[in-house]
Amino acid sequence: QPVLAVVGRPNVGKSTLVNRLLGRREAVVQDTPGVTRDRVTYDALWNGRRFTVVDTGGWEPDAKGLQASVAAQAELAMKTADAVLLVVDARVGATSTEEAVAKVLRRSKAPVLVAANKVDDRRTANEVHTLWSLGLGEPMPVSGLHGTGSGDLLDAVLEAFPATPRELLASGGGPRRVALVGKPNVGKSSMLNQLTGDQRAVVDEVAGTTVDPVDSLVELDDEVWRFVDTAGLRKRTKTASGTEYYASLRTKGAIDAAEVAVVLVDAAQPLSDQDLRIINQVVEAGRALVVAYNKWDLVDDDRRRMLEKEIDRDLIQVRWAERVNVSASTGRSVAKLAPRLRTALESWDRRVPTGQLNSFLSDLVAAYPPPARGGRQPKVMFATQARTRPPTFVLFTTGFLEAGYRRFLERKLRETFDFTGTPVRLSVRVRE
Ligand code: GDP
Repeated sequence: QPVLAVVGRPNVGKSTLVNRLLGRREAVVQDTPGVTRDRVTYDALWNGRRFTVVDTGGWEPDAKGLQASVAAQAELAMKTADAVLLVVDARVGATSTEEAVAKVLRRSKAPVLVAANKVDDRRTANEVHTLWSLGLGEPMPVSGLHGTGSGDLLDAVLEAFPATPRELLASGGGPRRVALVGKPNVGKSSMLNQLTGDQRAVVDEVAGTTVDPVDSLVELDDEVWRFVDTAGLRKRTKTASGTEYYASLRTKGAIDAAEVAVVLVDAAQPLSDQDLRIINQVVEAGRALVVAYNKWDLVDDDRRRMLEKEIDRDLIQVRWAERVNVSASTGRSVAKLAPRLRTALESWDRRVPTGQLNSFLSDLVAAYPPPARGGRQPKVMFATQARTRPPTFVLFTTGFLEAGYRRFLERKLRETFDFTGTPVRLSVRVRE
């Protein structure tokens, strides 16, 4: 079962809060000043999920002083636990000890939560937001004494733990959903046939999944993928009237239903507005993107050079997209789709731990401060990844950030945390 390590300096109310989390009334452990106790572990149960709470205890300053000893505990916690809870006394705010601990915890790969404890009155509640400055995400107000906020905190703890196998299954643990889209005659039907037919990779039945008859299950590179809404592509005869209209409806429906879209473009022809519109649709819908240059068998050296120029010119907005050159008629490189899909989906799913995000950001804005506007220099205070699928970041600043600077931040985020193949969203919240 997953492990939650609770860290914090003495007197922040850690034991009281731990008892709250365990649903116990009286203190389990009496803190005796000057006595170092070992780490104490307890079994906890919340919403039907069992987990272990490790109260790291032993915070009494050792020879190296309080700060060093707390930092060492934090180091141990983040290496051994599935999630770390930093308890801070909201009435006192972040002291130099918390800052030292936060600095350690910002490197944590395990998720870190911040509990702002002793929020017993409104005045303290109003001060909680200052703990954002620790760069560890949203501080959660709690009162160990009264028990307020502990339910929300426990919910957040469970959410922070790695998903259980059952949860993975429920959250679409089945095949990943792929949309195969592109303008008419680009080779979508041929590609689907190549994927399902010639490779004899049709999967009729996958244990535990029901296949919507409009979808196709395709085995590619030892993995089963669900190509969504392919019914229209499978039909031999395509309706002549209203094709455009239905084609565009299908495109939208497939993109919405998918997690990643393969946009087929005709490598033998110049990129058209319609190609770019479809690519744009994928980005707007926030889906991962693979651009497949089809009919590669028709591409000669001249065309190839042209194509490279077109890509630099027209696809600059999506230079992060995964690309692959294929031929639906010969089957060339069709198998290369799978690794591209995987990379794109991994990026789409990626969550950057708040601590890592904030160390990256503070280094970056120190080296490249945002340009001043109206004589005022906006400060970037901290950031958090609010969502995945696609990765969505919220930046808290003291002033407006120019579009150019936002793009710069987005590009650096992409480079640093490798968001190949997925759109990334960045929103800025100005806080005076
Ligand atoms: P859809 O409208 O996107 O489904 O396109 P189709 O699959 O019906 O293909 C349109 C035309 O392009 C057909 O004549 C295909 O044979 C041809 N085609 C599809 N893929 C390729 C390819 O990789 N190379 C070549 N040379 N022709 C292709």
